Order: sequence, then structure tokens, then C-alpha cells
Amino acid sequence: MSSIDQAISIKYNNLVYELKATGHDIITLSLGEAFFDIPAPDFSGFDVAELHHYSHSRGVPELRRRLAKYYEDRFGPSVDPDQEMIITAGSKAAIYMTLLAVLEPGDEVIMTEPFWLSYPAHVRLCRGEPVMVAHQESLFDLERHITARTRVIIINNPNNPTGKVYTAAELDHLHALATRHGLLLLVDEAYNEFVAPGTAFVSAAVGDPERLHTVTVNSMSKNFGISGWRIGYLIAHRRIVDEVLKLNQHLVTCAPTILAGYLAGHFDELISRTRPQIQQAVAMRDTAAGWLADAGIETLPGEATFYLFGSLGESSLNSDAFATRLLRERGVCVVPGIAYGESCDRHIRISVGTESPERTRRGIAAIRSLIDAT
Ligand code: PLP
Repeated sequence: MSSIDQAISIKYNNLVYELKATGHDIITLSLGEAFFDIPAPDFSGFDVAELHHYSHSRGVPELRRRLAKYYEDRFGPSVDPDQEMIITAGSKAAIYMTLLAVLEPGDEVIMTEPFWLSYPAHVRLCRGEPVMVAHQESLFDLERHITARTRVIIINNPNNPTGKVYTAAELDHLHALATRHGLLLLVDEAYNEFVAPGTAFVSAAVGDPERLHTVTVNSMSKNFGISGWRIGYLIAHRRIVDEVLKLNQHLVTCAPTILAGYLAGHFDELISRTRPQIQQAVAMRDTAAGWLADAGIETLPGEATFYLFGSLGESSLNSDAFATRLLRERGVCVVPGIAYGESCDRHIRISVGTESPERTRRGIAAIRSLIDAT
């Protein structure tokens, strides 16, 4: 455990909860989600007595079927919900259990910075070695990081924290690398709905319809605005699903049955309720990108999610010191870029998913003034 730190974003958000509890007004640009207006669950019409208990350890069958149909309708390749899918307690669990299932001690996992901050921790917990590739490097040069110990390439598409959406050519390249070197491509698609109109999102499942080398992970947390329900899932070849299933059985038994059951029954309703709100969040990202540009704060390129990865420009502070002072002195919380890799210590992650436009704008002004002051 000495090689694992607290998740930096969650550490900062815990601070926000504590400060708010003592009466501080914090402009919170640090949460890893967008808040939606969603009706409270109404369980009338459900056999709640059944939903109070464990479900099949692959997850509630009706939800698996609905999710398989969602992937098929949205992206094309068919998914067998009984053999090629597991519903997990959040997608974090799906990523960790996949790594636990495939890594031997010392195996290397390549991740490109900025990566989602739990990937290196998950790899280390499996006694693997994270191989972190600086964000200035082209994806098309990734091959030079592959060694005899490389087992997995993990990417996050769309990317948290930049909002980058991988192009079909980039995904083809990754599939080709995985095939050529016998690697697993682990693709985390937790934000797949948060893509601006006009930008093409390609699921990794498309490039490997037989799932020979691809594990696709997704989550209800962001796409349905229900992060507290803890429902994620993975789609993989049954040889991997069967291994993950053993881990799921021993670690958590199954994802929360009552919520999975509810979701299966209300899937379409939630989609129609959340889709317009997702488009609003994506539009807000665009607007906030304009405000940052007007303030002279550069962002790394991206066209999805509700995150912006802003440069600290002339500030002499590292990202952790900057975020700490921004919170303590100006009451604005962001996540320091160092959470997403060494090459990102000159950046901060700004989430525009939870605050009003007016408060987001005030937060950006505070960032600008702290850059100027430091
Ligand atoms: N993947 C990415 C890229 C994320 O940003 C997050 C949460 O912040 C997750 C996975 C985990 O989501 P959950 O475990 O809630 O499904």
C-alpha cells in the first residue's frame, strides 16, 4: 500500500464536503460528474421482495440484456449478455478486476497521460508496473514503449480530463498494436454519451467484434447521472469474463440488485430524460472553453465530457500547490493535473458539470487571478 496514494480528486472533493459542512461556500469545479434532474426511483410495479437480495453474480439478467441491446443499437457488434458481460459495482471494479484477472506480477500496462487517475493504482494493486507515456507523445509512437513484459494498453475514450475523443484511425492503430504484440486493449468508455454533436465516437468494441483482444468497460455513473448507484459493466471475451466472474463472486457477489433491477425497468425513460441534459453539459463545456480562452488560459484539445484541462501558464506553482491555494484562499476547487501523470503538473482539471454558469465563470476568474498572483 505504500506505493498507493489516496485518489487525489476524491481527496479534494472530501475537503469540499468538509468545508461546506462548516458553512464555507465553495465553487466546486472538481466533481467527476454532471448533476442531472432525475426523478426519484419509484418502485411500484417491481417485485421488490426479490430485488432486496443477491442477484446472479453476472448481474440482473434483464439489465444485461438491455445493456447488450444498447451497445448493439449504438455501435453495431452484437454482445451475448449471458457470456460476454458482467455488471459490476461501478466501472472502477470492472477495470480493477480485469487487471487482476490478466496481470502477472511485473507485467507492464501502458497508459497515456493524462490517464484516469485510478489506472496506475489499480495496476500497482495487481503488482504490475504502470508505464506512463507523456501527453506530448503521439499515439502513433506508442509501439516503442512495448516490451516483452507489456500485457495491457489502457485508454479512456472520451478522455477524462481532456475530453479527447479517439479517432477511428487512432483506434485502428491500437487494435493493430494489440494484435501484433498479443496485448489486451482495455478501453474505458464511461463518458461515451458526452460527445458534442458532429464528433464521431467509435466504440472499441467495433474494431474487435469477436473480442479477441479488447475489453470494453462502461458505467451508468456519468452517462445516466447516477454515480451513487454504483453500476458499471464490462464487455469481453468469455475467457476473460469467466475469470472476472470468479473475482466478482468472491469480492462483491453482485452489483446492487435493487438498483440494477430498477434500471432495467426504466432504462429507456432514463435515456430520454438524461440525453437533453447531457447535451446541455457538453454545450456548457464549449461555453466554458470560450471563457477560459478569453481569460488567456489554454486547454488541451478535446471535444467531449464536461471537463477542461487548463494550463497554469505563467504561474510558478505546481498543480497541487495551485489547487490547494485556490481552494483555501479563493474558495474554488479544481483537481491538480499531477493526478493524471507527471507530464500534467502544469495543468488543472476544471469540471463544469455541477455548478451554474455564473459560478463557473467566477471560478474561472479566480483561477486567472491566482495565476497572475503566483
Ligand atoms: N472511468 C473514468 C474515466 C472515470 O472518470 C470514472 C469516475 O470518475 C470511472 C471510470 C469510475 O466510474 P464508476 O466506478 O462510478 O463507474
